[in-house]
Amino acid sequence: MRMQDLIEKKKKGLFHTGEELKMIVDGAVSGDIPDYQLSAWLMAVCFRGMDDGELADLTDLMAKSGDTTELSVLGDRTVDKHSTGGVGDKTTLIIAPLVAALGGVVAKMSGRGLGFTGGTIDKLEAIPDFRTALSYGEFIEILKENGVCIAGQSGNLTPADKKIYALRDVTATVDSVPLIASSVMSKKLATGARSIVLDVKTGNGAFMKDVENASLLAEKMIAIGRANGRNVRAVLTNMSIPLGNAVGNALEVREAVEVLSGKGPSDLREICLVLATQMLALSVGGDEKEIRLRCERALDDGTALRKFIALVKAQGGDSLYIEEPERLPTAGAVYAVKAKKDGFIASMDCAVIGKTASMLGAGREKKEDLIDMSAGVTVLKKTGDFVHRAEVLAYLHTNCAEKLGEAEELYRSALTFSDTPVEKEPLIYQIIS
Ligand code: URA
Repeated sequence: MRMQDLIEKKKKGLFHTGEELKMIVDGAVSGDIPDYQLSAWLMAVCFRGMDDGELADLTDLMAKSGDTTELSVLGDRTVDKHSTGGVGDKTTLIIAPLVAALGGVVAKMSGRGLGFTGGTIDKLEAIPDFRTALSYGEFIEILKENGVCIAGQSGNLTPADKKIYALRDVTATVDSVPLIASSVMSKKLATGARSIVLDVKTGNGAFMKDVENASLLAEKMIAIGRANGRNVRAVLTNMSIPLGNAVGNALEVREAVEVLSGKGPSDLREICLVLATQMLALSVGGDEKEIRLRCERALDDGTALRKFIALVKAQGGDSLYIEEPERLPTAGAVYAVKAKKDGFIASMDCAVIGKTASMLGAGREKKEDLIDMSAGVTVLKKTGDFVHRAEVLAYLHTNCAEKLGEAEELYRSALTFSDTPVEKEPLIYQIIS
């Protein structure tokens, strides 16, 4: 069949055979299918969807399109976690050492931020000399010694996803359940951990805007994982409010260290406790209430922080910056955005807050842009909070002071106010297991 016939088939809502999907995935990786045809097919998938058989075949083909990591040498406690992307989401920096400190083997391959969302690899690179480009051998050795390693995605891991995701980003074909599910799960299957916890974000700063669609996405990803012999659970979490207070790389590392020291914002601590409990329940086993108590203790008594310091040292980073986080880069200009009148914050647009941090230097607009590690936003007032006129809503951190005017305007546009009290939204909607 020619590619135009496959596009036509999907356009009519018909189902592809495994062979047809193989032709599409192979053609995407080799470049034999031009971008315009691949894009047309992706749009047809967005409108028509896929059945469970197609989704399983597509994910398997994408997972096997490049290198895969063999983790069985590390035993059966290997565990991975994936967030579908958000603003202020520094949970990996906290959860990875916390879970490893309590017996899980956390084999994590993370990505960089693009657009308004942040990426774990960029955050870790705020720590001088921290190495994320590791060979497979180094990844395994660090895991054997330390029980935790966070590496950048290897050059040839799921090349089909790299190609398709880049096209989706520029063709408005990101928010499709089968396309997100196959993208996320192909990477998880290729990385090889036995247990996987998915943090499925929902809200205005997430690809899935409502809980119904987020829960459908979670169920599809769980089914793919199970069909491939993995233990999978999903936690549906709110992304209509930034997580914690810090948005931006060094700011987020500092906040992660606070939570690892038994302090920090309560929403961030709570999400980390829930996700870590699920990861340990799947990989190590035991009663969830008991596991949660152990997690709380490990944050409060310094066990998790010591593991983070060990992780930083094992990956070449200067751990002094974690022991004394005030050494991390700070911006030349810190500007207070103040409330213009009294009122309750009725809503926050997380995507716009992410874009504000990016404009201040914390993110990239193009892949090759350099990041300013010190730039970002500290969000002080959140949805439901009452603010008095002239109270500080947020601090903007930057080394490009000329951007402050535009960034302040953008930040203000992310907020709506109300004269009457606003109900706080839940932080966690559901755990699907
Ligand atoms: N994260 C991914 O890895 N892929 C998607 O499609 C969306 C979020």
